[in-house]
Amino acid sequence: MAQKMLKFVTVEQRMPTKRSTAERAADFQEIYDRFSTSQAAEQAARCSQCGVPYCQIHCPLNNNIPDWLKLTAEGRLEEAYELASATNTLPEVCGRICPQDRLCEGNCVIERNFDSVTIGAVERYITDTAWDQGWIKPFTPKRELAASIGIIGAGPGGLAAAERLRRRGYEVHVYDRYDRIGGLLIYGIPGFKLEKEVVQRRAKQYVDSGVIFHLNFEVGRDATLQELRDRHDAVLIATGVYKPRDVAVPGAGLDNVVPALDYLIAANRVGLGDTVAAFTSGQLNAADRHVVVIGGGDTAMDCVRTAVRQGAKSVKCLYRRDRDNMPGSMREVKNAEEEGVEFIWLSAPQAFVGADGDGVGAVKAVLAQRMRLGSPDASGRRSPEAVKDSTFRIEADLVIKALGFDPEDLPTLFNAPELEVTRWGTVKVDHKTAMTNLDGVFAVGDIVRGASLVVWAIRDGRDAAAAIDKYLAARPARDARPRKRKVLVAAS
Ligand code: FAD
Ligand code: SF4
Ligand code: SF4
Repeated sequence: MAQKMLKFVTVEQRMPTKRSTAERAADFQEIYDRFSTSQAAEQAARCSQCGVPYCQIHCPLNNNIPDWLKLTAEGRLEEAYELASATNTLPEVCGRICPQDRLCEGNCVIERNFDSVTIGAVERYITDTAWDQGWIKPFTPKRELAASIGIIGAGPGGLAAAERLRRRGYEVHVYDRYDRIGGLLIYGIPGFKLEKEVVQRRAKQYVDSGVIFHLNFEVGRDATLQELRDRHDAVLIATGVYKPRDVAVPGAGLDNVVPALDYLIAANRVGLGDTVAAFTSGQLNAADRHVVVIGGGDTAMDCVRTAVRQGAKSVKCLYRRDRDNMPGSMREVKNAEEEGVEFIWLSAPQAFVGADGDGVGAVKAVLAQRMRLGSPDASGRRSPEAVKDSTFRIEADLVIKALGFDPEDLPTLFNAPELEVTRWGTVKVDHKTAMTNLDGVFAVGDIVRGASLVVWAIRDGRDAAAAIDKYLAARPARDARPRKRKVLVAAS
């Protein structure tokens, strides 16, 4: 039934129902149920249809939120989907995993006294409905263009660009070193935030649309950047950031002190039905373990909650700042606490202690020290300082290091020393065109921004596709090749 808008005064904010913690701990399914049609319409109708919608301004994709909320309230869901997908290539993903409390919903003007409109949950509802109803079709173009584009990386940044360019009619090839499409959506982010079928049905849509994927293909091993440049009319680098930051304390090399992404990839692979030796052997499995996760970002939250589901005996999160100064989403911290995770704030590891003496064998404990927050650093965040004589011991037989990621050394890896990078190792681009210092080579997502968010990678991919289209259209006719269209194949 169509709803009148501006209902925030009379209708309370309601999120979709959360499953009980006992039920959640027993599987890797998403924790929120879906809105019913009437709930979605009622929640969408809380929007006050602002003349200057701050939600839209603070959405990295500038989604036309007020209009699709109104269409949802009126029951015009197919039109709502058309509008939502006009700016967002993966609306069902963003609706699930954007940190809405820091983006659209955190800036909704009715938030202060009445709680914001549940924008993310409505976006998810609209798009899941579109899938159920069969409104989402392959995006095969009406006309094929002669030019070919090579994209390195099948994560959200590469996929967003692939969709836009294929729609336009280009031949699009996506190269990825993994065996599945999705980047961190498939192997980083756990199923309880984003079920894998959601990523896989999108991946199928891309394949059905004629995007050509070369999986198990690692640029650097199977081809150089130059070979891709020879093969394609433009190349887009969307490789993400994967080099884990380490913790430089004694015992960091002990057995069962593991990097977060190794742990999460193993868990995701097992969930997808793969056999993972390091999981089967127990090395990357939290079952029956006392687990300590070090870090306070989204990756740390995903690790602690994965450990709960694997049947850990206890799960603790050690973070050197306090709750108000952690980078992870507050919603995720709350979910983790509900699921039984213990947060040890203002604490940092001093050493890992092994069973067979200090630096040998498997880890048995973490020695940690208390911290306090000092004056703000260059980024404005208060720096943690160690409290003297405050060492304490935590029993642990699995320690997961979730301290963030840096870029790999792409110029060396790609055998392209001429590719310019910043002093942090991210790829340098002209921010108006997304082009690197190499003609016809563009870059997007985490490899440009450093570890960021899915929604920013999509935004970059969308903008880079427009820039690539413009670049190719502006090329002098003599440069539009038949090139050496050498077929590139993975070595393994
Ligand atoms: P990626 O998703 O990393 O994709 C890069 C792809 O490039 C990968 O598939 C990789 O295999 C491929 N590749 C790399 N090198 C090569 C090579 N040499 N040759 C071929 N292929 C290559 N963001 C959110 O918004 N919400 C969240 O809840 C959230 N949770 C997260 C949880 C975890 C554990 C992590 C690690 C990140 C999380 N993020 C989250 C961040 C988000 O996943 C990233 O910002 C986003 O995926 C970046 O997209 P991308 O396309 O730039 O890179
Ligand atoms: Fe909000 Fe993210 Fe959707 Fe934008 S894409 S409306 S920030 S959930
Ligand atoms: Fe609606 Fe809130 Fe956006 Fe205003 S800021 S248009 S009330 S969702």
